[in-house]
Amino acid sequence: MSSTNIERQARTVAQALCDAQQAVALTGAGISVESGIPAFRGAQGLWDKYDPMEFASIESFLDNPARVWGMLRELDELVRQARPNPAHQALARLESLGRLQMVVTQNIDGLHQEAGSRRVVEFHGSGRRLRCLGCGRLVSRAELMFDELPPRCGCGGLIKPDVVFFGEPIPERAAMTAMAMAHSCQVMLVVGTSAVVAPASHLPLLAKSAGAVVVEINPEPTALTGRISDHALHVGASEALTLIAQAVEERLGGAGEGR
Ligand code: NAD
Ligand code: ZN
Repeated sequence: MSSTNIERQARTVAQALCDAQQAVALTGAGISVESGIPAFRGAQGLWDKYDPMEFASIESFLDNPARVWGMLRELDELVRQARPNPAHQALARLESLGRLQMVVTQNIDGLHQEAGSRRVVEFHGSGRRLRCLGCGRLVSRAELMFDELPPRCGCGGLIKPDVVFFGEPIPERAAMTAMAMAHSCQVMLVVGTSAVVAPASHLPLLAKSAGAVVVEINPEPTALTGRISDHALHVGASEALTLIAQAVEERLGGAGEGR
């Protein structure tokens, strides 16, 4: 697709965002790829070594926590080094312009908050928090010793990152907030997600059936393409969201500049 086409689509999406009372972005691993954290699907790196379906299940974690912590330690290192990219920044800018009310993220990397997004629903928890499965307390990063795997709390309990593994329920408050927003929004941006991991993958369907415009941003076609998405921008998240945020700024500043 030519870049003019993407620019035209970005202007159409900007118009929809400017007309909407409520807009939300649903993000997945793809938005953080340009920050150096590989997604599960479509690539490479960490996941060549570790099969995510195996390593990200609660059964495997409880079965062999030392083995799964080997992967978590490497992911933790990538997340610590990662910085928000222009896609995270563009979403934060849309929020500060009053054109995006919420980010619902499946990511556990904390990069939306670091970019300045204030209303972020962490659908799958956060890798920046840790919890002891013995006494239930939150464990600080500083306490985490990697010299022995798996890391253990003072009480002897197993420490687990506060993320949702396959086979675990979605935190109730996050699920309720995200579903309510999917029902009430007029625009949903679906960014960097293969939209196959349920129940997050239901959110675009909910939004669509409630009448929202669904905009997909992903270099590859997904399960939503041609079925659920009203617009599909098949480029990287940074390029698409930067263009959309610029187009929104132009529209909002348009009156003063005589455009
Ligand atoms: P996924 O790995 O299933 O899909 C990632 C999608 O991103 C793919 O469709 C791919 O085409 C797309 N993509 C790749 N590069 C992109 C780019 N530059 N811009 C936009 N899109 C791009 O991810 P998922 O749907 O989020 O589901 C996997 C689960 O694992 C989720 O819970 C996810 O958040 C989690 N996970 C999180 C991280 C993280 O926190 N950064 C990393 C890996 C996996
Ligand atoms: Zn404990």
